[in-house]
Amino acid sequence: MQAPQEILLAEPRGFCAGVDRAIEIVERAIQKFGAPIYVRHEIVHNTYVVNDLKAKGAIFIEELSDVPPGATLVFSAHGVSKAVEQEAKDRGFHIFDATCPLVTKVHVEVAKLAKEGYEFIMIGHKGHPEVEGTMGQLDHGIHLVEDVADVARVQPGQTDKLAVVTQTTLSVDDAAEISAAVRARFPSVREPKQQDICYATQNRQDAVKVLSPQVDVVIVVGSPTSSNSNRLRELAAKLGTTAYMVDSADELQGEWFKGRARVGLTAGASAPEILVQQVIDRIKVLGAVSVRSMAGIEETIKFPLPKGLKIDAATGLEIRERAPETGPSAH
Ligand code: SF4
Repeated sequence: MQAPQEILLAEPRGFCAGVDRAIEIVERAIQKFGAPIYVRHEIVHNTYVVNDLKAKGAIFIEELSDVPPGATLVFSAHGVSKAVEQEAKDRGFHIFDATCPLVTKVHVEVAKLAKEGYEFIMIGHKGHPEVEGTMGQLDHGIHLVEDVADVARVQPGQTDKLAVVTQTTLSVDDAAEISAAVRARFPSVREPKQQDICYATQNRQDAVKVLSPQVDVVIVVGSPTSSNSNRLRELAAKLGTTAYMVDSADELQGEWFKGRARVGLTAGASAPEILVQQVIDRIKVLGAVSVRSMAGIEETIKFPLPKGLKIDAATGLEIRERAPETGPSAH
């Protein structure tokens, strides 16, 4: 049987600006304050990243009661509810907020519209920490829908002032279908001016749409908990290309490549490039002789670090500011 000949790399793939920033916050906090640094939930949903930060001195917890008094605590990129934010403040931790600014943008929109009397329909996946964080911006009046069937069932308290928000890492196409169902049932629903699905999710899905028809199998590098990585694998499969998701090169199986000459490779927004390179090396052992990057959007977006962790790019020295605050930092 024919072995893989060529690997086509999706562009863009892998780390986004929010993931870069979140990891840098943990690393700089460890450098500045010393280990251990506590992180609420996996900083980003990737096994390699989490293990790497554990080795550097991060301790990942789910319950704030597991953090000792006076410790430094980082909120993960997915964001937290108001209740978690308040509990962390009440416990007096030294807090750095690694919530992706694009998730914070959704939180701010929810808070603003809630003050104007809006209720919300949130499109997202139940139990995902980002959904818990966004829904937890309010005590009530925010209703989760996961699919079109949920839209038919949802019962807002009023429909005069109803707004829709979405998780940032959804399938763009699924979210559009669910949004259309929301609009059909609630014609006056307010939608965000700019979609809540983030640029990184959109760009990686667009790249898979270009990649999939050109290859015989798609490999997505990502952890099982990573929402946007799962969506990439599903998208490739929906487009008719057999697709697998792997957390590391060890999970690749030789039979996936039998009779498949062209292998498409991409990575979720939380998967580091080193894992992509390890996957390439493994596929080369199976026979691939060439690796080609597809043309794609070049992402230049970068988010600033929170106060207390900023470094001057020119000098490499820390930018001195007032004493680190207690409570989440602005960004
Ligand atoms: S996937 Fe999007 S929302 Fe999530 S961290 Fe990256 S840029 Fe932010």
